[in-house]
Amino acid sequence: MARLLSVNVGLPRDIAWQGRTVHTGVWKTPVSGPRRVRRLNIDGDGQGDTAGHGGEQRAVFVYQDESYRHWQEHLGRSNLVHGQFGENFTVEGLADTNVCIGDRYRIGSALFEVTQPRVTCYRLGIRMDEPDMPALLVRHGRPGFYFRVIEEGDVEAGDEITQVASGPESMSVFEINALLYLPPHPRDRLERALRIPALSRGWNRSFAALLEQQRASRIAAGNAGLGPAASPPPAWRGFRPFRVSHKIAESGNVTSLILEPTDGHRAAAALPGQFVVVRLGPSAAQTITRSYSLSDAACYRISIKREAHGAASLYIADGLRIGDVVEVGAPRGSFTLRQDARPVVLLSAGIGVTPVLAMLHALAAEGTMRDVWWLHGARNGREHAFAAEACELLAGLARHHSHVCFSAPDPADRPGADFDSAGHLDQRLLQGLNVPRDGDYYLCEPAAFMSDLTASLAALTEAVRSRASAAYKLAAQGRNQAWAELRAQEKEAYKARVEKSWRREPSSMPRVTAELRRGLPDNVVIVDESITASLDLARAFDYRGFGDYFGGRGGGIGQGLAGAIGVKVAMPDRPVVAISGDGSAMYSIQALWTAAHHKLAIVFVVLANREYRILKHNVDVWRQNFEAGTQHPYQNMDLSGPALDFVHLAEGMGVEGIRVEKADDIATAVANAVAANKPCLVEIAIEGKR
Ligand SMILES: Cc1cc2nc3c(=O)[nH]c(=O)nc-3n(C[C@H](O)[C@H](O)[C@H](O)COP(=O)(O)OP(=O)(O)OC[C@H]3O[C@@H](n4cnc5c(N)ncnc54)[C@H](O)[C@@H]3O)c2cc1C
Repeated sequence: MARLLSVNVGLPRDIAWQGRTVHTGVWKTPVSGPRRVRRLNIDGDGQGDTAGHGGEQRAVFVYQDESYRHWQEHLGRSNLVHGQFGENFTVEGLADTNVCIGDRYRIGSALFEVTQPRVTCYRLGIRMDEPDMPALLVRHGRPGFYFRVIEEGDVEAGDEITQVASGPESMSVFEINALLYLPPHPRDRLERALRIPALSRGWNRSFAALLEQQRASRIAAGNAGLGPAASPPPAWRGFRPFRVSHKIAESGNVTSLILEPTDGHRAAAALPGQFVVVRLGPSAAQTITRSYSLSDAACYRISIKREAHGAASLYIADGLRIGDVVEVGAPRGSFTLRQDARPVVLLSAGIGVTPVLAMLHALAAEGTMRDVWWLHGARNGREHAFAAEACELLAGLARHHSHVCFSAPDPADRPGADFDSAGHLDQRLLQGLNVPRDGDYYLCEPAAFMSDLTASLAALTEAVRSRASAAYKLAAQGRNQAWAELRAQEKEAYKARVEKSWRREPSSMPRVTAELRRGLPDNVVIVDESITASLDLARAFDYRGFGDYFGGRGGGIGQGLAGAIGVKVAMPDRPVVAISGDGSAMYSIQALWTAAHHKLAIVFVVLANREYRILKHNVDVWRQNFEAGTQHPYQNMDLSGPALDFVHLAEGMGVEGIRVEKADDIATAVANAVAANKPCLVEIAIEGKR
């Protein structure tokens, strides 16, 4: 008899993680006594990321006690407590392999239906302090599952769990999970999954998409990362530091690196054929980001071909040392080895060998009984990387065949020993070798890595277009129309706002930015530190070309006037206009002197409302959050007493200044300032926070 061991709830909270704030409801704590389960939630429970969790079809997350034992052993941990996996119900029984989508269970006075496996996100990695956890759940086939609440009621730890109905098609949570995340995706099973009415809408859509892809293309080979099949979610987000533990010269032009994580956690297991994105470089300011297939997925080995003039490959060959730290993204890509009984054909040329070599390693490690064909092309013996390694792996296989072609053999290369034939791998050669036509082919040649991005994107667009079904096109058309309508509504609303504020005095922000646009030439470069006026500025100007706009990304202020100096130095032929709030302008006012000193024709526009408007906004938000009633007063947020005077400040720095009080005069003032072709300051009076 299955039993409810623990009811766990928790409301979302903000936690600090890797220098940012993550809003998450993954922390759940056991509660005693009866708890009400409602259609969308258990009382006292909530989700942080409602795009990924919660809602009617993911109202209650269930995880099994037996999986706890599995993880305790696998992770070597004894400190796992109920709720650890973010689950609402910790249960005894109800294994993922037994429970089927659509099964119904009565617990206490509530009735539940199984809707989908849990989709694990990186937050579980944070909660468990195991960054690889999301990928491990998929790989170990222990995702847990969600309940939909059919009848609301009370539940309590200790309640018996009684199955009252079985789902149609008898597809277990384990099977459904593997069907989505792990290749192959057999068509008949996809069709069965789509016949289960209880399956959640999201999963239904994913299976329908897979089926559609299969209908459109019967081929499942291709460039790593561009394959059509779904791959497991990345084991971690962003980059993790890895140390170069070994650096190996594989041939005249290929260097391998073995990478080990420095953060004390194990690297996640990768699938053979996957690639990683690596960020490296001689200094933090000179980083290069490139993709590399793992040439042995078991030990995070990447192998890089030296390219003439290649920034990363030359740095790796000549600059990078053992012990250096590089940043590595989680393994990705669905060009991976499928479980199958058919012969495997691994076909590669040049550095394209890397993903298929990882596959050969995996086949050797599992002692496959499949026929394995190793077909490889290289220029000559000096450039034939991994010759001995491939030979050794093949020798350990029960059934193997191999053929190596050299396109330009050296005189020292021995036919029959170093290579099997001169020339290229082509259709005729494969026919002559009797390579099975019904084999499972994995093909990778360097062009797949190096092909032109523009051409690839154009081809991708075309492929998406040609494969889109009528229903898909209709839905896309609907979405586009909805966006266009929303945009039109927004434009109308903004227009009304501008009209309403047009005649206000001092001038409103929409009016000021509209007047600036009117007075400034089309090729103007805007350096924006207008903070709360930024949105109006963005609506007034139509930034299109490279370098039309510069602005800060952080929340720090003070870079605007000074930044304009650098922009003008970089773009001496374009008019540069810095637009700053008066508070920000005080931080780097000495930029005016620098502009005068170096005769840099920059127009400094200071929007003067004599207040720290952004702080007032922030206070408003906090007051709203805490329902603190009135929005007033704003203490110590006005720039009053002594009176600021930017025109005289500018004069003191050798820059001519003018103050504009009336909106009607703004366009002429800035046009004149640009025409003067020397540093000028235009202070514009704008309204403060009402
Ligand atoms: C999924 C995936 C997996 C990959 N796996 C591997 C792998 O396992 N091993 C591997 O080696 N690569 C792999 N690549 C390719 C790799 O990411 C890099 O693109 C490659 O190493 C070249 O990078 P680079 O910085 O050395 O060259 P870049 O500096 O990016 O130059 C790109 C090309 O332009 C040429 N070039 C640059 N400057 C000049 C110039 N002034 N004159 C003439 N030519 C010039 C270079 O010779 C080079 O061929 C993979 C790519 C992808 C997308």
